[in-house]
Amino acid sequence: MMNLLKSLVVVLIFISCNSETPKQFDLIITNATIVDVLGDSLNNSQFIAISQDTISLVDNMSNLGKYKANQTLDAANKFVMPGLWDNHVHFRGGDTLIEENKKLLPLFLAYGITNVRDAGGDITPSVLKWKQDITNKELNGPTIFTSGPKLDGTEPAWPGSLIVESIEDVKIALDSLEHLKVDYVKMYDGSLEKEFFYEIIKQAEARGLKTTGHMPLSANILTATDLGLDGTEHMYYVIKSCSPMADSLTQTNPTYGMFPEIVKSYDPEIAMSIFKKLASKGAFITPTLHIGTILSELTEVDHKGDSLLNYIGQGIQKTYHGRIKSAKKAKLQGNTSRSQLGQLAKDMILPLYNSGVKLLAGSDSGAFNSFVYPGESLHLELQSLLAAGLTPQQTLITSIINGPEFFELSEFYGSIAENKVANLIILDGNPLEDLKNLNNIRATIIKGKVYDKKMLDTMLRDLKK
Ligand SMILES: [Zn+2]
Repeated sequence: MMNLLKSLVVVLIFISCNSETPKQFDLIITNATIVDVLGDSLNNSQFIAISQDTISLVDNMSNLGKYKANQTLDAANKFVMPGLWDNHVHFRGGDTLIEENKKLLPLFLAYGITNVRDAGGDITPSVLKWKQDITNKELNGPTIFTSGPKLDGTEPAWPGSLIVESIEDVKIALDSLEHLKVDYVKMYDGSLEKEFFYEIIKQAEARGLKTTGHMPLSANILTATDLGLDGTEHMYYVIKSCSPMADSLTQTNPTYGMFPEIVKSYDPEIAMSIFKKLASKGAFITPTLHIGTILSELTEVDHKGDSLLNYIGQGIQKTYHGRIKSAKKAKLQGNTSRSQLGQLAKDMILPLYNSGVKLLAGSDSGAFNSFVYPGESLHLELQSLLAAGLTPQQTLITSIINGPEFFELSEFYGSIAENKVANLIILDGNPLEDLKNLNNIRATIIKGKVYDKKMLDTMLRDLKK
């Protein structure tokens, strides 16, 4: 019995000594007020312990004594939350613009964007290399999710697209995307035929690949969603499905020229039934409201004095001219469909959200998309969603919660908790109270690497050179 007691004492001493050895982390953020986006609430006096790229522990400051870190960051009177997601950006413009695209990566960090979903382009090998380099902390930029090249028909709208003009091509294209290890499949409607559009969705679904994109105007959004389409980019295709004239117009004039008629005949009752069906299938929609506004006002607004133009390379600035030209042409023809469409899109946001359709905040920034600047444009998209009627919390959900949910990665993103990726931002004010507080970023943290305000400002200054 004595022996047993003795060994018990030894074990207890061992345990208590062991618990007094402070556990060492790479980074501890102290005195944090954590923003719980999904809970629409704050959690005061917390510390966040990070090991390598992962949050290891979140606990009350009163328990901090037991822990040590290589680096500490005091977040007293600051708000810490998961970094923003821009769910629709483009890296593109051909080989000559690779460097200009790469230079823009720090701009996302300066605006608190820690994750971007690249919606297709023509410089995929470079994008995949950056993605790797950022993961290895060898390059300053956000975590990248990319579709790689878009899938389109015989006459693709964008260079670098994979052409699908037969059932066999669908297999070849998806094999190629899987070989590249892209994160999802993006389709485009330059000339993609309806039957191949449906076939891509079917085959991608069978392979467990996510699909989203534009739709051939002759295709039906509910049929596509039933086949497994995960997302829709922009509002055209949802709007089309809400008009009783959609079928007849598609038969006589399956072009974007049908939209004035579609907008005019929009039926809120049909819309509600479509939204409910889309919601029941778990569909995601990326409204891209802000770029709609920019493009509809291109002939009236002079962007020459935009301070953010200073960060955009000359080559990318040149690509902005195309949209200005087409806007001028549309104005000469008296075509106001873009602004009518934009207004309707804004009116649809709240009904879509309340029906349970998952909205994704995406800016569509990138070469050719005039004056939609990487970083700032996501904030303006969030402001547009807010102005359309969402609360600050609902607006943040479209970025921070729905972004990872599209990729079924909610386990790793969307909140500040154990085992989540340490992609965070530290703000001066509470964004749940006022979304404008997203503009005052004290630090951006990517996979545990801290970029404080000074570093972000230096990166921006370097960008201007
Ligand atoms: Zn786009």
